[in-house]
Amino acid sequence: MTDSWLDTPEHLGFGLDNLPYGVVADGQTPPQPAVAIGTHALPLGAATEAGLFDTAVPDPGILTTPNLDRLLAAGPAVWSSVRARATELLGNRANAGAVRPLLLPLPRMATPLPFTVADYVDFYSSRDHAENLGRILRPNSEPLLPNWTHLPIGYHGRSGTIVVSGTPITRPHGQRVPTPGAEPVFGPTIRLDIEAEVGFVVGVPTRLGQSVSVDEFSDHVFGAVLVNDWSARDIQAWEYQPLGPFLGKSFATSVSPWIVPLDALAEARVAPPPQNPAPLPHLLGDHWGYNLTLQVELNGTVVSRPPFAGLYWTPAQQLAHLTSNGASLRTGDLYASGTVSGPDPTQRGSLIELTWNGTEPLHLADGSTRTFLADGDTVVLTATAPGRGGTRIGFGAVTGTIQSR
Ligand code: MN
Repeated sequence: MTDSWLDTPEHLGFGLDNLPYGVVADGQTPPQPAVAIGTHALPLGAATEAGLFDTAVPDPGILTTPNLDRLLAAGPAVWSSVRARATELLGNRANAGAVRPLLLPLPRMATPLPFTVADYVDFYSSRDHAENLGRILRPNSEPLLPNWTHLPIGYHGRSGTIVVSGTPITRPHGQRVPTPGAEPVFGPTIRLDIEAEVGFVVGVPTRLGQSVSVDEFSDHVFGAVLVNDWSARDIQAWEYQPLGPFLGKSFATSVSPWIVPLDALAEARVAPPPQNPAPLPHLLGDHWGYNLTLQVELNGTVVSRPPFAGLYWTPAQQLAHLTSNGASLRTGDLYASGTVSGPDPTQRGSLIELTWNGTEPLHLADGSTRTFLADGDTVVLTATAPGRGGTRIGFGAVTGTIQSR
């Protein structure tokens, strides 16, 4: 089955081969898990109460609940059976009579954060991004630090400030140094940036002391979202040595409301890039990249199209590394790729790269220019991936508008 009996506009990328998971709610509909199909959502709580998922879940409570937490924890066998049943309900016209009355119009629904974010980790796995940042921040030394090709560099972020797409982003205050060597001042950042990233949502937890091998990625990871890792470059530059990112990033991180399940990305798998030197054994196994093309829009002007396929460290290697010390996983853990940048200047996933540290302003369609973000600016990240039979898998969008405090 590749077509739904519902009209699913191709450009949205929410066709039958995708069926991303989120949460929908409005004045009449309590928050509940849903799958998106075209311009509609099938609410899974209501569908379960109507008896449409009886054989797909071991316990109806997995779907008659306000968010995706219980489905995430249920594991790959349940993920497959729920997806198969949703495909049957939305793909087989014989089910239209039972399903159509349940459908909700997506444009009228609220789509809150669909799961409880447990821990949040952000990696730094795009070689082009890491080299660009190295050239900008440390112009007189090698762009990559020696550890970069041996392990996926990352840091633990702040899960409590992960917000869903559409949440306004308040310009953070912090310490910055106005000119090199000057004393620090405290106030609003003047170098507010974006980072276009892809995040992976963990479903199945592990015990403390257990590691997840590269081969076990699909046993634990439920799906992928878009992430905008808002970054205050001036706060970051002053605080990040010696312990890494802190308040320059923890004020807000935005995610898209629809989780694209790994099964929907089967056609988008690509061979991982060559890795030299060869990684240590705990980072080896059966793994792959994903052929996602991101798009960054600033106030309506497309400023970049970062390619995710070229990422040096794959999501499976990131997860293996993150658990290699025996740190346990929790349902709802989110780990992001790091800024996705490609080799071409039009493929850079942050403003610090696109404007080369503010020295080459971007020209927007309204005639204005930007180095870093101004109050009122709106950033929209989207992405597509190839689906079955030439179809296209969409991720929806993660948007945010900057406001002053
Ligand atoms: Mn980041």
